[in-house]
Amino acid sequence: MKYEIPPLPYPKNALAPHIGAETVELHYEKHHKGYLEKLQKLVRGKPEAERSLEALIRSASGEIFNNAAQLWNHNFYWLSMKPGGGGEPSAELARQIEESFGSYRDFRTQFAAAAVGEFGSGWAWLVKGARGRLSVCSSDDADNPLQRDLMPLLTIDVWEHAYYLDYRNERKRYVEAFLDHLLNWDFVASNLTLAPAPERARGS
Ligand code: FE
Repeated sequence: MKYEIPPLPYPKNALAPHIGAETVELHYEKHHKGYLEKLQKLVRGKPEAERSLEALIRSASGEIFNNAAQLWNHNFYWLSMKPGGGGEPSAELARQIEESFGSYRDFRTQFAAAAVGEFGSGWAWLVKGARGRLSVCSSDDADNPLQRDLMPLLTIDVWEHAYYLDYRNERKRYVEAFLDHLLNWDFVASNLTLAPAPERARGS
């Protein structure tokens, strides 16, 4: 299995001033690519090397799980943002958010609480459950909603490396900037197959 990191869908300075070019440079080139390199070393010559990232997330443990999941999570994270994003969704997606959360404001409050409240390093997610309902959850370290049979629709990385250069310890300001200026609703729609998928997060 060839594991890959898709090219960034925008220039490294395109998320500024909300996420600066230096953060994107370090996060993408060092952290994200570091997980890919470690995973490749860990699976070399082992049966795991034949499994997709999703299969590794569902079945592996220890270092192989950590690096496979972090690779997938970061692939998904970059697509969860776009320059000029954020704010309320439109059309069918707005209807689904209202149906699941009551209102966009309630979604925003829940997502921010999950992201800000995640203790230590981890992720916050918008997910779709088996019955089609959307919900918000968080995960520790490298954990991913696929382990709980939830379909990821959107994620924010709340490891300190994602925001420390831009916001120091003020995670809440980073989360608010993500929600109000970066969130890529087109990506959410494509994951719900409400819209064509220009690019999907695929590491394999
Ligand atoms: Fe990260």
